[in-house]
Amino acid sequence: MKQEPDMEGGKVKAGTTAEAKTGSWKIQRPIWDKKKCINCMFCVIYCPENCIPSKTGIRDETNLDYCKGCGICAKVCPVKCIAMDAEVKHI
Ligand code: SF4
Ligand code: SF4
Repeated sequence: MKQEPDMEGGKVKAGTTAEAKTGSWKIQRPIWDKKKCINCMFCVIYCPENCIPSKTGIRDETNLDYCKGCGICAKVCPVKCIAMDAEVKHI
């Protein structure tokens, strides 16, 4: 069977995160306390959806359209300035 070039070896082509909008099905969302953030970039690096942007070493607001509410960012934050909250409270 002929394989698609961009799926060879089970790998998915780059840039497909933009197709995985999660805005309507996540059950938790991260709440970021910007005042406590020390811009360590741990959350930016560890986010599996690449939905925490940063510009020139400064963390920016999470793009909730692509966040899946996994809570990894909250776990890795060394100053605990990300808290997970029930999505239903924000609808
Ligand atoms: S909850 Fe998960 S997907 Fe959402 S911003 Fe944090 S690490 Fe990324
Ligand atoms: S892990 Fe916490 S302190 Fe580090 S950039 Fe993210 S929110 Fe800020």
